[in-house]
Amino acid sequence: MTIEDVPAPLQIAFAAAFGALVGSFLNVCIYRLPLDKSVVWPASACPYCGRLLSWYENIPVLSWLALRARCRTCAAPIGVRYPIIEALTATMFGFAWWYYGPGVLLASRLVLGCALIVLFAIDLEHQLLPNAITLPGIIVGVVFSFFAEPGWMASLIGVLVGAGVLYGVAEVYYRVRHEEGLGMGDVKMLAMIGAFLGWRLVLLTLVLGSFSGTLVGLGVLLLKRESMKYALPFGTFLALGAIVAAVAGDPIIHWYFGLY
Ligand SMILES: [Zn+2]
Repeated sequence: MTIEDVPAPLQIAFAAAFGALVGSFLNVCIYRLPLDKSVVWPASACPYCGRLLSWYENIPVLSWLALRARCRTCAAPIGVRYPIIEALTATMFGFAWWYYGPGVLLASRLVLGCALIVLFAIDLEHQLLPNAITLPGIIVGVVFSFFAEPGWMASLIGVLVGAGVLYGVAEVYYRVRHEEGLGMGDVKMLAMIGAFLGWRLVLLTLVLGSFSGTLVGLGVLLLKRESMKYALPFGTFLALGAIVAAVAGDPIIHWYFGLY
């Protein structure tokens, strides 16, 4: 029996179920990386009362629903982030299996997607993009590029373009405003995206990320009437931009240049 013998909907369901399990590991990363804790040890525990969770409290999404979002012992609330990340990762795995089909490109896109989900959530909450994700991510992206899109040459140029463009923008901003607008975390994150997606799609990521970030920033400005000093988590928008670029980047580029 080969993979082709399994009906497609069942394949997608298996991929999604596996994605939900990966999502629960991503939750551990999102919670522990900003605290500089190990992501593999110890086992998951309630952050309030410290009791170790049993296997049936670790089932993605379902446990959260069954426990009605509270710890069984101390009744401390369990954030809605947990089931959201698990459901999101499950959806991503199911979609990617259907969209890319089994192969190296699927693996590359899923590894990138997982890194982006973790960076998205940590940047949103802590305005932080941990090196523990971005630096190994650059290397892994380049290694994948030897076996799948975008190819090693485009990948290496992508690292340089991703890091270089954002580093240049940060440098100009610093010279003009005499304050830091962009962190080195954003630079390393864009280098990682360049490694996985190549130089064309990393530029598209930067355009999409800046555009959506500016739109949301203007919205916040209009609603709250706060000064522009409110620091938007740029990494969060880069993650969104990169996901769009990874899935629909080539059609978007063709459409855009087709306009001329
Ligand atoms: Zn508890």
